[in-house]
Parts: sequence; structure tokens; C-alpha cells
Amino acid sequence: MLSLQIESNANRDASPIIGIDLGTTNSLIAYVPPSAVAPDTERHPVILTSREGDSLIPSVVTFEGDRPVVGHAAKRKKISGAQDTVFSVKRLLGRGFDDLKGMAGTLPYRLLPGEGAVRIQVGQRIYTAVEISAAILRELKLSAEAALGVPVTRAVITVPAYFNDSQRQATRAAGRLAGLDVLRIINEPTAASLAYGLDRKRQGLIAVYDLGGGTFDVSILKLQDGIFEVLATNGDSMLGGDDLDLAIAQAAASEIAEQTGKDPFDDPQMRAELLLASENVKIALSESPEARMSISLSSGRIYQRKWSRDEFEKLALPILERTREPCLQALADAGLKDSDLSDVVLVGGPTRLPLVQRTAREIFGREPNTSVHPDQVVAAGAAIQADILAGRNKDFLLLDVVPLSLGIETYGGLMSTLIPRNTRIPAVARETFTTFVDNQTGVDIHVLQGEREKVADNRSLARFKLKGIERMPAGMPRIEVSFLIDADGILQVAARDERTGNEQSIEVRPSYGLTDTEVEKMLLASLENVEADAEFRRVAEVKNDAKAVLIAAEKRIPEAIRLLSKDEVATIQVSIANLKEALETNDVPLIQEASRNLNASTVHLAELLMKGVLSSSVDEKQS
Ligand code: AMP
Repeated sequence: MLSLQIESNANRDASPIIGIDLGTTNSLIAYVPPSAVAPDTERHPVILTSREGDSLIPSVVTFEGDRPVVGHAAKRKKISGAQDTVFSVKRLLGRGFDDLKGMAGTLPYRLLPGEGAVRIQVGQRIYTAVEISAAILRELKLSAEAALGVPVTRAVITVPAYFNDSQRQATRAAGRLAGLDVLRIINEPTAASLAYGLDRKRQGLIAVYDLGGGTFDVSILKLQDGIFEVLATNGDSMLGGDDLDLAIAQAAASEIAEQTGKDPFDDPQMRAELLLASENVKIALSESPEARMSISLSSGRIYQRKWSRDEFEKLALPILERTREPCLQALADAGLKDSDLSDVVLVGGPTRLPLVQRTAREIFGREPNTSVHPDQVVAAGAAIQADILAGRNKDFLLLDVVPLSLGIETYGGLMSTLIPRNTRIPAVARETFTTFVDNQTGVDIHVLQGEREKVADNRSLARFKLKGIERMPAGMPRIEVSFLIDADGILQVAARDERTGNEQSIEVRPSYGLTDTEVEKMLLASLENVEADAEFRRVAEVKNDAKAVLIAAEKRIPEAIRLLSKDEVATIQVSIANLKEALETNDVPLIQEASRNLNASTVHLAELLMKGVLSSSVDEKQS
């Protein structure tokens, strides 16, 4: 448990560690001043202002020549320089073009098709999402240095709980590129709960409902005596305020297309303008029942429209309904009912919308708590975690969990889970596997993430080979596979041949080339396919057992010919042929029956062989 507190040299170095909320829309930096500045009882996180003088730093990057410009100055270019101004880059982080095809058409800037990490074209130059995120982080670092008056090289960065390994790795890489040593990556809802629970009087079970610009996360936590234990987490990494903007923009776009015969979404600048105007409408509707939208069209005409809150809510409802399933699943995973919760904490800009508050109330059956600052709470929590890592806050302990199960492929196309979802991190799991074929000298280790039984339905994270296994009959080698997941949720997998001590290991790297069947879709699919999956596993397991019987029988044929009557040998051969035929089907009773018949036909042979073994061992003793 205490290993969570240990971080190399972190508490010996006196330079500040800042907390960063690297948001889809806005980013924030926070810091807990040391005791010398504030007495211990008042050591609360402070939100630092940017070099532009604001606490919210728009996560927008534009370019003046090759020089990146970040923040409000970049946001102002969102329309005039639409194609060269990158926003919502967090949605692209750790993903390949194939993962983002659906989104490409909705962005004013260009995503380039191709293998590997998605690339963004700005003018003549091509950037990765990591480079754009690094530009934002560099601006945050400079702002923190300006605010604190000292160099800043260490940070804690928050990510959505639902970020997978690739996305966490990409965040870390962006930090490094920006000159920051990322000491820890923590989940946004966990950070929020740290800030919420700062005054230690807050105890009990809470749900954090975190709807941001691009992602939705829900976590169930237990707060007790300064220990923050995440019991379960769930979410949707493609759901947020941006979707609400898009829904408004699409409705307006189809009206404009009807009036003018031209789809404004075809023009990147118009699309940017529409999205921005839609965001303003959404924000205005969180306070007032009506909002105006006005867009100058390329024809010189002006499109004007009044939006009522009712109209907006009709569009928004199906989007917000998508938060229900993850919440219910998180509650179920934590083994709780909504009535067990003592509070529901709302986090993220869109939770200011009355409809979001109503949705959360309906899901959890209680009035949500809107007392925390929805924009600042995550950065504040990151700063508290930074303070813990600096060894200055010994009152809190964070216990986080893995959001998706991790395992390897085993014989028959089945996933064998080593670390189930919602296991507390850091975590270690070990399991021993063996070979299925005689004289197998290597095994493929295929690392998977997901909740499904069938390998093909899960996400492939990595593959590697353990070679140099001694030639032995199937089932004899012992190969220990170990999974180690660190406090950032980053995975290390090792496979070791117990006989030779030969070992291979990898740190799981982003596998951008793979199409990312969305994490949350995977979860939902696993729920929808529980029965089919269980059936697949049953068939695969019955087949594996039957194949083992078949292999053993075929190996004994020469002995059968030597020891048994012709009829008996013929019966065994027919049973073998029948079992082979049965194995071509997925008919479980048929396979089991054929397998039993084959076993029965070899009973006499087994007896003779056993007698032979016994008498030879008696002979050995007597001689
Ligand atoms: P966050 O990721 O928490 O910074 O949230 C950013 C999202 O919050 C963006 O989609 C914003 O448009 C949205 N947002 C900010 N303020 C409001 C507001 N008052 N009402 C509705 N949405 C808001």
C-alpha cells in the first residue's frame, strides 16, 4: 500500500511539483504552497494564472510560422485561422487515424490518413498529437515558472480514468517533450475527490460524475480517514461538451443548408464558426432560458436563430443519456446501490447545465453536490497529489484502480485475465502457463485488454515471443507470465521459463496501428455478449480438453498395435476419427461423447501400460 507514496527522489528535491489538468478545452495549473508560505492548516491548492493572466488556459494551439501560440491568443484564431488552429487535441492523443475517422469530418483542421499515431497537418508542417499537447504543456510550464518565480520541471498530470495505456503513454511523452518530468499520472475523478475531501471531515462513499469537454468519467470512491480508495470506475472517452456543441451546430447547419443549398460544414472556417457559436449558445443556456445565435454566411447573409433551453435539451438528452450506463455499471462493480452513496459530486464545465444536473440526479436518485468548482477541482486535486509526492502531505493516501481487465491469449483463442478490471494499482499478477504441443520451443505472448472471452473481441496491446524453451512433451514446460502495473497504470509484462530462467519482458507501448475498438464500446459489448461469450469459452475449453485426449491417444498407437488385438486397435482408430470429425463442429455434447468413447477404447491399453510400468519397477527393485 505504501509503495504509492514512494517516488524516486521526489521528496528530497525542493523544486516545486505542480499539478496540471490537461483538459480537452481548457487546461489549468495548480500548486500547494509550502508551509513556509502558509500554515499547515491552510495549505490549500492555489490555481496559478497563465502568462495571459487567466486561470483557464484554452487548450488551443495555433502557429505563427513555426512558433506555437497557445491559449486565448490561439483561441481567437479559431475562426480566422481555422485550418491552422488545433483544439480538442486530447481526443486525438494515443489514437490512430482509423480510430478517428468519424471525427475527422467534424474538425476544421486536417487529420492525415495513414498508419500509426494520427498526424495533423498545419500549413506545410505535420505534427503529432503528442507534439501539439507538448506545446500546451510547455506554455503551462512557462506560466507556472512566471507565477512561482522559479524553474518548474516536475508535474503531476491528470487524465480521464478511461484513458487506455496508449493515451497515458502519449500524455507522458508530451510531458517529456515539454521538459517536464511527469512524476505521476492520476485519474481526473480521483483528483477531484482529493480536492473534494481536502477537509478531512468528508467521509463516506461518493460518486464523481465528471463530464468534460471531450470525455465522461464516473468513479465511485470511499473516503475514510484520509484514505481515498477508488472502488470502481467507468466512462466514455468520446463523450463530452464538444458533442453538445456539435449537435447544435449540426442542427443549425442543416437549416443553413436548406436555406442556401450549401452545407456550411464543407467549409472549414464556417464549421469552426458554427462550432464556436454553438458552444456559446450552450454556455448561455446554462444560465438563461434562451440564447441567440448569429452567423455570417459566405454569401454575406446572416443566419440568425433563437435557441430555447427546451430545444437544446431535446438535442442534448440522448447524448447525456449515454452517461447512465457507465454510472450504473460503476455502481454495480463497486457492489453498491445508489442509496449507499453519501454524495454525488459534479465535475467539469458542462455540469453547469441544468439538464446535466437533472440527469445525474435521476441516475443516482439524489440531488448532486455542485459545491466544488467544476473547472478548478481537478487541477487542485493534481496539486494535492503533487504535494503528497513532495512528501509534504502525509494525511492522504490515494488508492486507484485499473479501468479495464488485462490478460493474455491462451489456446483456443481465449483471453485469460491476469488483472481484472477495478483491481487496485499498483498491482502484480502471476500465472503459470504451459505448452500444448510436444517439443514446442517458443511461446507467443499476446497481451490483451478488455472484458470479452474471445481474443478477437478484445484490444490487442502487444505481442512478444519467449524462445529457447527446452524440447519437452506438451504440458511439461512451466512458463510464468507476470503483469506489473505501476501507479500510472502503465503495464510491464514478463514471461519466464521456470526451468531455464530464460526471460523476456516488455513495457506495453502504444499500439497505434491497431484500430481502437473503443474501450467503452468494448465494455458495453461485453455486457451484451455475456451469454455468447460464455458459450464460446465453454466450446473452446471442451475442444481443448478433447484435443489433449486425441493427442495422447495418437501418441500411443504404436504401443496399441504391439499390445492389443486387431479389433481393439481398430476401435481406437475409429474413435480417433470420430473425435476428429466432432472437433470440426462446435457441438459440445457430440465432442464430449466422442472424447468419452476414445477414452473408453483406450482403457485396456492404459491398464496394460500401467501393469508394464509396475512390473518393470518391481523388476528394478528385485534386481
Ligand atoms: P472542462 O473539460 O471541464 O474544462 O469542460 C469544458 C467543457 O465545458 C466545454 O465543452 C465547455 O463548452 C463546457 N462549459 C464551460 N462552461 C460551461 C457552462 N457554463 N455551461 C455549459 N457548458 C460549459
